[in-house]
Amino acid sequence: MKRTQTDRNLLNFSGGPGALAASVLKQVQASIESVPEVGLSILGISHRSKWFTDLVIETEQRIRTLLNLSEQYHVLFLQGGATQQFSTVAMAFNHSEPNKPKHPAQYLDTGYWSGKSIEGAQLKPQPENSASDIHVAWSGKAKRYTTLPQRAELESVLSPNAPYFHYVSNETVEGLQFKEVMGLEGVPRICDMSSDFLSAPIAADRFSLIYAHAQKNLGPAGVTIVVIKDEMLAKISPNVPTFLDYRTHVRAHSNFNTPPVFAIYVVNLITQWLMSEIGGLANMGAINQQKANDLYKVIDASGGFYKCDVSPAHRSVMNVSFKLAEQSLEEAFLSKALSYGFSGLGGHRSVGGIRASLYNGVTLEAVNELSEFMRDFQQRA
Ligand SMILES: *Cc1c(COP(=O)(O)O)cnc(C)c1O
Repeated sequence: MKRTQTDRNLLNFSGGPGALAASVLKQVQASIESVPEVGLSILGISHRSKWFTDLVIETEQRIRTLLNLSEQYHVLFLQGGATQQFSTVAMAFNHSEPNKPKHPAQYLDTGYWSGKSIEGAQLKPQPENSASDIHVAWSGKAKRYTTLPQRAELESVLSPNAPYFHYVSNETVEGLQFKEVMGLEGVPRICDMSSDFLSAPIAADRFSLIYAHAQKNLGPAGVTIVVIKDEMLAKISPNVPTFLDYRTHVRAHSNFNTPPVFAIYVVNLITQWLMSEIGGLANMGAINQQKANDLYKVIDASGGFYKCDVSPAHRSVMNVSFKLAEQSLEEAFLSKALSYGFSGLGGHRSVGGIRASLYNGVTLEAVNELSEFMRDFQQRA
């Protein structure tokens, strides 16, 4: 093996915050002292400066280019993480007219984060036996979240009258990923893409609202990107307080109060890296697919030593969740991996096991080294 136990430079396979490209980290490092065009530390640049307002415009422009977004969409840089969006979405579009009979918003329950999105969308704990504001159209719970619904199967249980349909494109904890767009045409589609945003091309024009925080593929924690279709703004409840109203942030160009200047700066550098070093989302998608294929191959060729329970058609390209058939070996696996410099491989605290997250910033070389380590560990076990 190339890696030795004395290698201090850890490879980051964390579920999030995740690895970022080395070339971007170099620029970030220099910017702490001084951003070349400004002469000030990135941590002390005014959000009202022309440099920063231009930076927001440029970052938005790059996201538009990468996603091929039409003028019908607004791109916002907000705070509060994806968790804030769980509630903001519901307040804006599902609790608008409290006295009017209405149809519930429809949600998919496909894993840990969609479960959180459903909890976060309830205004308050639901009294027992009361009608919920939310209809869970499909749940993977009985199958222990190892599979996802087929599009056709779902269409028969979705309502054309729902104010919106919400799902999570990539279940970060369980390692499940939708490979096609879900939902009925004509019902606004809202998607939490926190763990696979800008990891591959998407049909963005089929969504009414997409949200994704930065810390999995695009930068540090602190900024959440919202892509919202203009026609959705007119549907926002009149009862929503100013700060929670998307229109406030559209009008202010994401500069209503002090935005996370540093986090947006890093997202700007990552989008530049995606465009010029990687060559766009098609290339990024191909690299990410290669990384995932390599790792799943090690698991599938292990004769059951490593086990991935996720149905093959829904295996995530971003998060490879697996177990060791002999559970007692997992602790040894994790500590030996860490001693060889593979960091962040412990499964999410809710499920345990092993999880290798292969976000944009994780190189193919790092995945090759991990594959080699896994084969070697099996041989010696
Ligand atoms: C990590 C993650 C979250 C949590 O986001 P916060 O920014 O911590 O609120 C939500 N959704 C998905 C899909 C995630 O992967």
